Amino acid sequence: MLSRGDHLLSIQQLESADIPHLFKIADSMQPYVLRQKRTRVLDGAILANLFFEPSTRTRVSFGTAFNLLGGHVRETVGMKASALAKGESLYDMAKVISCYADCVAMRHPESGSVAEFATGSDVPVLNGGDGANEHPTQALLDLYTIYKELGQNGKSLDQASIAMVGDLKHGRTVHSLSKLLNNCAPVSINLVAPNALQMPDSIIRALETHGHQVQTFSDLAEGVQSTDVVYQTRIQEERFETQEEANLYRGQFRIDKQLFDDACEQSTILMHPLPRDSRPEANELNDDLNLLDNLAIFRQTFNGVSMRMALFATVLDVVDSVHQYAENVPWYSNKK
Ligand code: ASP
Repeated sequence: MLSRGDHLLSIQQLESADIPHLFKIADSMQPYVLRQKRTRVLDGAILANLFFEPSTRTRVSFGTAFNLLGGHVRETVGMKASALAKGESLYDMAKVISCYADCVAMRHPESGSVAEFATGSDVPVLNGGDGANEHPTQALLDLYTIYKELGQNGKSLDQASIAMVGDLKHGRTVHSLSKLLNNCAPVSINLVAPNALQMPDSIIRALETHGHQVQTFSDLAEGVQSTDVVYQTRIQEERFETQEEANLYRGQFRIDKQLFDDACEQSTILMHPLPRDSRPEANELNDDLNLLDNLAIFRQTFNGVSMRMALFATVLDVVDSVHQYAENVPWYSNKK
């Protein structure tokens, strides 16, 4: 089980029992995310939020989660502004940052880099995305969202049929989500991608070994049929050799209201780790879906803050004291 002082580097560290446990803690964080209460449990604690690759949501979500627990956030953004540009090793940087901070959230373009950093860190490190490898906190918030959304439709996770769509080869969110599903009861999984961007074989084999019913599709409408959840992803253009190569795939798998009405169930939940590429040549999740209640993408964002609070509270060992330090919120908030 994930506990005090641990790093979270890969979703494979987690055990089945971690999932309901973290969901329960995340549920208990909702009053704080909704600004019904505030807590000072981490007052004085410092998060080093180290983002060496572009990010808005994940970086701000980690920072917000730490702030909502009463902690303080120090950030560095981009490789050029950091000592990595002067040849510093990740190990040295970790030793230095551990002197300043009580916890680290980190994103880096190279697979394995966050784990390398963690070898030098004396404080817990949470992986905010390492290259095409993993994005464990996103997987947890995605599964938490699937669980909550299905619950509202009167279904449970073990009855789910999930379509993952888009760039499954390079998408770290779908890699981590697939690995997390291997801690759950078998479900039905459709992998919908252009042939060249299909999920890595090793991940497909692991899903099958776990008993999931896996099917691959290169046709979007066929792949999303009869599914409870459609998880769309962006073509990860930054992971291709050339922009021209990425452009071959952008816009191939667009989901719009028409496609939704023609191919999906009325209750199908639409998810995306965000950012969705809304430029005309990609437009992978059309704006004409914005008013549809099925579109859960901004509820994922909300759930992400609760889940990251749950993770910080767990590794900094304050789960049981969060509510002792709670107070009412005096300011106006439209979230309450
Ligand atoms: N925000 C997600 C990630 O960092 C998805 C994406 O960038 O397409 O992996």
